[in-house]
Amino acid sequence: MSRHPPPPPLSDVPLEPGLYVVATPIGNLRDITLRALDVLNGCDLLLAEDTRVTGKLLSAYGLSKTMARYDEHAAERARPRIMAALEAGQSVALVSDAGTPLVSDPGYRLVNEVVAAGHRVFPIPGASAALAALTLAGLPTDRFLFAGFPPTRSAARRTFLAEFASVKATLIFYETGPRLRASLKDMLAVFGPREAAVARELTKLYETAVRGTLDQLATDSALDEPKGEIVVLVGPGVEQAASEDDADRALAEAMSRLPLGEAASEVAKSLGLNRRDLYRRALALKDGG
Ligand code: SAM
Repeated sequence: MSRHPPPPPLSDVPLEPGLYVVATPIGNLRDITLRALDVLNGCDLLLAEDTRVTGKLLSAYGLSKTMARYDEHAAERARPRIMAALEAGQSVALVSDAGTPLVSDPGYRLVNEVVAAGHRVFPIPGASAALAALTLAGLPTDRFLFAGFPPTRSAARRTFLAEFASVKATLIFYETGPRLRASLKDMLAVFGPREAAVARELTKLYETAVRGTLDQLATDSALDEPKGEIVVLVGPGVEQAASEDDADRALAEAMSRLPLGEAASEVAKSLGLNRRDLYRRALALKDGG
């Protein structure tokens, strides 16, 4: 007896020529649309980031297809063949290992080239970890900003995070278990104790969400090198003029990795304060107070 779900009724309407960007599940294999299955079944050429991962998805739905690899490394080499297929009026489908292609995954350059060559691009929407995490975090959803993976080294990460400090929106980051603790500490240093959430293993057996302020999350023992895949969400800062303490804290942090002038500029931008005042304050802090 098969453990796989019975195949749904698939459409036999031929696909129009063009590139189909197909979202696939981020864990639970049933999170796939009937239209996505139609495209995977009916396309002339299937491009997969990892053909073994996509092979498992296809076989779960009783489908089989010859695939070509399309990952970061194979992309340059694969593009001429893909463009030739589109020129010949074929339908080409692109999938990544999980979720929506192009979202922290390969595909942007391909779409850009396909559009420039005058071919159609069809989005086949579905799962994405960023949006799934946003819906369970309990943070404001009216405005959000997806920032992808922060840099792996702390100094570069703090510079990167500082770019988002003045954005009045929920911030969404992808992270890995081994880096989570350090990343949360840097977020606390740059954003202060904002409301935040860590979403792990979404749609999978060990799905969890830990919610709290960044100072709570940064020291929460449940978040010690957690296994699996992770999204970190940080709520927008409370709407209020930055206090002198906020400015001093941000300046001290920025001065630990940047020359004085650059530190003042960065904090001026992130807190919406006057750069010249901050420069003077930075000089005073440097001289001990
Ligand atoms: N294209 C994918 C999407 O639409 O979400 C993201 C691909 S990116 C290479 C992989 C990252 O997405 C993981 O490191 C993790 O941060 C996040 N992610 C993917 N699946 C997840 C899941 N089931 N639960 C939590 N985060 C997930």
